[in-house]
Amino acid sequence: MALEVTLIDYARDPLTKLYGAYRTCYTPKTPNEVWAEIGAGKITPEQIRGFIQERLKTGHASPLEQVVFWFGISGVSRSLSHQFVRHRIGISFEQQSQRYVKYKEERLDYVTPKSFEKTPGMAEEYEKLMAEVTRVYQLALAKGVPAEDARFVLPNATPTNFQVMVNFAELLHIADLRLCWRAQWEIRHMVALMRRAVVKAVPEIGVYLQPKCGDKRTGYCDEPYQDWERCPMGKQRPHKEQIFALFREYKAGNLVPLTEDDLRRVEDDGQE
Ligand SMILES: Cc1cc2nc3c(=O)[nH]c(=O)nc-3n(C[C@H](O)[C@H](O)[C@H](O)COP(=O)(O)OP(=O)(O)OC[C@H]3O[C@@H](n4cnc5c(N)ncnc54)[C@H](O)[C@@H]3O)c2cc1C
Repeated sequence: MALEVTLIDYARDPLTKLYGAYRTCYTPKTPNEVWAEIGAGKITPEQIRGFIQERLKTGHASPLEQVVFWFGISGVSRSLSHQFVRHRIGISFEQQSQRYVKYKEERLDYVTPKSFEKTPGMAEEYEKLMAEVTRVYQLALAKGVPAEDARFVLPNATPTNFQVMVNFAELLHIADLRLCWRAQWEIRHMVALMRRAVVKAVPEIGVYLQPKCGDKRTGYCDEPYQDWERCPMGKQRPHKEQIFALFREYKAGNLVPLTEDDLRRVEDDGQE
C-alpha cells in the first residue's frame, strides 16, 4: 500500500493575499485602497515577493493563516492518522469511514513498517496476523455483525484516506514537529511529501516548511541532547545547550577577540 499525497488546490493567488494581509497592518491606507492598487497593477510581483520575504523574517505569523491549502492523502496507516488528527488548530480533516466503507478484499490491505521486513521472520509473522484479522473481520461481516463493530478487530496498520484543508501557519507548525527526525517515520514521510508539493506550487513560501531546527525556523534543536547527537541534521544545526553555553561564555567575558599573536600563529604556521 503506497502512501500518496496530492496538493488538490490552494486558495487563489496566495502571495497577493499574504501581501494584502501584511500591508493592511502597516499602512494608513484601507484594505480597499491596498487592493485597488494591486488591481491597478501598481504593485509589481517583485514588490509583492520582496515585501513578503521581509515580513517572513519576523515573528508576525498571523497573516499566514490567510493562505490555505487542500491535500488528498491516501495509503497511510491508522497509526499515522491517530497522530495527524492531534493537530487541532487551523486544520480540517475528512477521513474515510470504517462504518460506511467495508474492507471487502480477500486480504485486507495494510501498511507494513520496513523494520518488520528487515527483521528476520517478522514479515511472515505480520502477514500471518493480518490474514487472521482479515478472516475474523470478514467472518463477522458475513454473520451480520455491523461494520462499525467488525472494525474493532482492525489493526493500526489498516490504511486510511484523508482530504485535509490546512492554513500555512499550521502547516509550518506541523512541519516544525513532524519533519523533525524524532517524529515517527510514516508521518515524517507524509509531511515531507506535503512540503515538496507546496515547494513546487508556491516556492516563495514553501521553502519555509522545515523542521523547527531549520535555518528559516528557530535555527536550533531543542530535543534531548542524545537525540541531537544521533540526528543526521545534528551535524548541520546547533543544539540549544550549545547556544546557551556560548552565551554564558560570552557574558563571562571569555570570548575574547583574536589577538595579533593568535593570527600570527596561523599565518606563520609552516614558515618557520
Ligand atoms: C515527536 C512527537 C512525540 C509525541 N508523543 C506523544 C505522546 O507520547 N503522547 C501524546 O499524547 N501525544 C504525543 N505527541 C503529540 C503532541 O503532544 C501534540 O498533540 C501534537 O503534536 C499536536 O500538536 P499541537 O498540540 O501543537 O497542536 P496543533 O493544533 O498543531 O497546534 C496548535 C497550537 O495552538 C496552541 N494551542 C492549541 N490548543 C491550545 C490550548 N488548549 N491551550 C493553549 N494553547 C493551545 C498550541 O501552541 C499548539 O501548539 C507527540 C508529538 C510529536 C511531534
